[in-house]
Amino acid sequence: MTDDLDRGLPIDGPQLLRDLRELATIGGVETGVERLAFSPDDVAARRWVAARMAAAGLEASTDRYGTVYGRAVGASRAVLIGSHTDTVPRGGWLDGALGVAYGLAIARAAAGRLPDGFGVDVLNFQDEEGTYLPCLGSLSFTGELDDAAVTRARDRAGTPLRDAIARAGFPDLDVRLDPDRHVAFLEAHIEQGPRLEAGGLDIGVVTAIVGIRRLRIRAHGRADHAGTTPMDMRADAGMALFRLANRIADGFAAVGGAGAVWNIGSIALQPGAANVVPASAEMVVEFRDVSDATLDRLEEALRSWAADLPVPVEADVIARIRPTPMDARLGDAMEAAAHAGGATTLRMPSGAGHDAMVLARRLPSGMLFIPSIGGRSHDVVEDTAEDDIVRGCQVLADTVLRLARSAA
Ligand SMILES: [Zn+2]
Repeated sequence: MTDDLDRGLPIDGPQLLRDLRELATIGGVETGVERLAFSPDDVAARRWVAARMAAAGLEASTDRYGTVYGRAVGASRAVLIGSHTDTVPRGGWLDGALGVAYGLAIARAAAGRLPDGFGVDVLNFQDEEGTYLPCLGSLSFTGELDDAAVTRARDRAGTPLRDAIARAGFPDLDVRLDPDRHVAFLEAHIEQGPRLEAGGLDIGVVTAIVGIRRLRIRAHGRADHAGTTPMDMRADAGMALFRLANRIADGFAAVGGAGAVWNIGSIALQPGAANVVPASAEMVVEFRDVSDATLDRLEEALRSWAADLPVPVEADVIARIRPTPMDARLGDAMEAAAHAGGATTLRMPSGAGHDAMVLARRLPSGMLFIPSIGGRSHDVVEDTAEDDIVRGCQVLADTVLRLARSAA
């Protein structure tokens, strides 16, 4: 066993790339894929993953929602590796699929090479992208899924999640986190942004998944004739919101610091006619940061600027997701594994949500990023160089070996 341990966990790069290319043919569109959760292509991809797990010597089971779990036979403790094969409409071939394929590759490499009783379990979670309910699979896995939320959930066409579940016909089974068995969760993902590529760096070690605060701002004015009402006698709800938007554009950087990002992604005026002063106006402001205190400061600034406006304004928080720190020990292990293999690293937050966000509430969790060409993702153009794909998998495999040795 000692000789095997010394050889590490060599990844079969060509096999990993073949897996990813083959999986990308299921629901393929142009250079990307479309596998909306519970669609026939999503179900087919999950069957494919279950078959690959079995071929890797794992005991594969699929739960009632379609999460596929591959259990290392003969192990009493295991590192969980995985992500999701569902996609957004016209999504990329790597998002999610990469983390699942890494799990398969590392499970194959780990067979017979880890200390006795230690294994690699692989997960393919359902509906991370939220076609019906974001992170459905990981929430069910950790036992946090709210039955009422499942009943309420619908896709954009109005199809109830319950109908989609019934139609998909997955086994009437739950797969659950086992705290006695599962020692850590590792999720690899494409960066989905430009920082690694711009810095010429190989690996992103994720420090935290950002928190998200989303506020709906409503200004209440009065509809008047836009030609006959003097400017100083108007209660213009639209102009009030534009002033607020300008203060955000000019002031949020000073309040939030270098890491914070924000977006005004939606704005609407009523009644919405060229010759009517807007009677009401609504916009949605979203901001993200790794620190709750920063999100609080941004919200406070927004509210105080809103209170200065010449018309009444309401601000309601419509989404509040807390930042999720990743496990520091796992981050150190990933960084050490990368450096030992000659790879360069960057400690960075994840600006997007991931299943690791859910798992981290129950289990030490870590995320590893590889570069995205042009920073593009959630689109069919999304891509990563093959060398980067293989290198990332080797770093994650070497991380698993470090964890297994320190746990043995
Ligand atoms: Zn993803």
